[in-house]
Amino acid sequence: MSSSLPRHSPDAPRKHGVVLSGTGGVWRVRVAGVDGFSVHDAALRGRLKQEGKAGLKLVVGDRVMLEEDPDGELWAITEIEPRVTQLARREPGRRHGERIVVANVDQVVVVFAAANPEPHRRMLDRFLVIAEGNDLRARIVINKVDLADEPAVRERFADYVAAGYPVHFTSVRRNVGLSELHDVLAGCTSALSGPSGVGKSSLLNAMYPGLNLRVGAISESVNKGRHTTVGSMLHPLPDDGYVADTPGLREVGLWGLPPEHLDACFPEFRAYLDLCRFRDCSHQMEPGCAVRGALETGAVSAERYDSYVKLRGELEVTEQLRSLHSR
Ligand code: GDP
Ligand code: ZN
Repeated sequence: MSSSLPRHSPDAPRKHGVVLSGTGGVWRVRVAGVDGFSVHDAALRGRLKQEGKAGLKLVVGDRVMLEEDPDGELWAITEIEPRVTQLARREPGRRHGERIVVANVDQVVVVFAAANPEPHRRMLDRFLVIAEGNDLRARIVINKVDLADEPAVRERFADYVAAGYPVHFTSVRRNVGLSELHDVLAGCTSALSGPSGVGKSSLLNAMYPGLNLRVGAISESVNKGRHTTVGSMLHPLPDDGYVADTPGLREVGLWGLPPEHLDACFPEFRAYLDLCRFRDCSHQMEPGCAVRGALETGAVSAERYDSYVKLRGELEVTEQLRSLHSR
């Protein structure tokens, strides 16, 4: 990266901003001013644009420095601040090995419903692996607890609690768990994901009445039947945080994760990984496998282990296909 500071006219005030959305050159950037926030259209200044061609691309969630353009409509983005975290998809074989979906995410919040639609554990595990693969904290929300027997629902997700994930049981209809969820979103940038129909938009509207999201607005369904991934978007929250809408998160397989890295994406396996007899243990057939030992004692749940095996198989197939194609 070039260390030279961008040149800018001395009288143009430089401001901090956060990229909310945009692709194809024009970005919506939220800027803090003395009397609150304002949102402006902005474009990368020439030098940054050149660097962009060389790989450094602006993404939603980036924090930037920008200059107001006194006569034009487009503000100029003069600097992209270093990213603290990112939610990225690895793309093996590509020149720039990954595609960043959203930058500076503090946590991934995976929402499912207790019923209607029935929770899909394997899909939940897939989202959690994506978060772990990006070194991001994850929390789980099980909404619509009004539609199920709550103790039974808690029991069904107990292995996630044991694995160390915070699990929130909520109901928009009965106002259960909303203030706790509100508290953990405050001040953070949270990537909200989960299948459509589980109540993501309803939860946000209930917690932030001013937000006025249309029901179904935060939804994976917008992407159905299309191969292109619609861009991510940050929704500013009234109490100083953001919710990132990341459509298509679950459609991208496991994001090029190497099969041998999958075990470490299951937090409850980690204490056992160094105890297996073989260093490259796949925790399936090998003798002296400590993960399967933990499965027998119940420290690792059968369903989570089963997910691991299925996802590992999937990753191995992907890798074989890739090596066939690259020959
Ligand atoms: P999204 O696709 O995840 O954004 O889901 P929506 O917010 O659009 O909600 C889908 C449907 O579930 C709507 O009909 C909501 O009214 C309903 N819904 C949302 N939360 C709850 C809840 O806690 N309990 C019940 N029974 N229904 C809910
Ligand atoms: Zn093992």
